Amino acid sequence: MSTLLTYISVNDGKIKRSSLEVLSRCNELAEENGLSSAALVVSDNPSEVTDELKKFGPTIIYTIQNPVFKNHLNTPLLKALSAAVDHVNPRLVAFASTEGSKDILGALAASKSAAAVPDVSEFDLTDNGVKGKRPVMASKIISSVEASGSPVMISVRSGSYDVAEKAGDSKVEAIDFSFSDADLKITLKEIISASSDRVDLSEAEVVIAAGRGVKDEEGRKLISELASVLNAGIGASRALTEAGAYDPSLQIGQTGKVVSPQLYIGVGISGAIQHVAGMANSKVIVAINKDPDAPIFDIADYGIVGDLYKVLPPFIDELKKVKSN
Ligand SMILES: Cc1cc2nc3c(=O)[nH]c(=O)nc-3n(C[C@H](O)[C@H](O)[C@H](O)COP(=O)(O)OP(=O)(O)OC[C@H]3O[C@@H](n4cnc5c(N)ncnc54)[C@H](O)[C@@H]3O)c2cc1C
Repeated sequence: MSTLLTYISVNDGKIKRSSLEVLSRCNELAEENGLSSAALVVSDNPSEVTDELKKFGPTIIYTIQNPVFKNHLNTPLLKALSAAVDHVNPRLVAFASTEGSKDILGALAASKSAAAVPDVSEFDLTDNGVKGKRPVMASKIISSVEASGSPVMISVRSGSYDVAEKAGDSKVEAIDFSFSDADLKITLKEIISASSDRVDLSEAEVVIAAGRGVKDEEGRKLISELASVLNAGIGASRALTEAGAYDPSLQIGQTGKVVSPQLYIGVGISGAIQHVAGMANSKVIVAINKDPDAPIFDIADYGIVGDLYKVLPPFIDELKKVKSN
């Protein structure tokens, strides 16, 4: 039976939600087409995630274990993925579209003489390959893409599919892999992370995004308070990252991060196309803006027209009351 193989990204011992979204879609396609849906974990310690992964019902969880996978390094990861493709012989290898998968998707496809279909927002199987939709030009255009052959390598934008648990009796199978440090041409010296206690924006269930309307320390304090009540990640428009009010790593948009939370609240953000490119996949969009004609209201599910300095304090108080009940 041919296999749809989902690569599971693991960060700090946790499975990335976006990988589970891709696995859930592959489970669905496997069921519809009488195929097998398998998962692949490449890690220094795959056993720390296999029990969690079983809740999502892949037929087989393939693991590749080596200390070199403690951090993301392209050379050993490519070698491991290549070994997995040889071992499993899948018709599809699916990744969540992350910085890491962007690094290796093309190289893996080239090494296997396979087609690569990056960054789709939906995909389906065809008789001899895959077809999908891919937002391009800051999501102004949705292009239709199709690739044939086996395997096809695909990466999927986060937020494109829901995560669905699935009962099953997943088998765990280790794939033989060896790697010599002598093959490591690039080594990792240091990881500089912006802040360890911050909620990871690309995985956050709730995102509060601050725009130019947030003018000063008082405004940023309100944003932090709102984020803390909702346990949300904080993002910003380019207007504020360029002004130095927020770290550049928090920029959402075409030249920043793509977020796909259950709830996005844009505060004092106009909704420029370049910003929308990074948050349009959010499930529920709330906008707070004093200009009733701000373009963000065109895509918002809920809008509050008003001055954020007057709107946010009672809004935060109400949320606190709701949460304490
Ligand atoms: C090549 C390129 C790439 C870009 N990439 C990105 C990107 O990745 N991400 C990004 O965000 N931008 C990006 N931009 C910039 C983008 O075009 C916009 O300039 C930017 O998103 C605007 O940010 P903003 O909405 O915060 O500011 P503005 O457009 O100035 O909007 C501020 C909003 O705040 C409202 N406001 C003001 N005061 C208050 C108040 N007291 N209460 C409530 N509302 C208030 C105003 O009504 C207004 O709608 C890019 C631009 C280019 C050319």
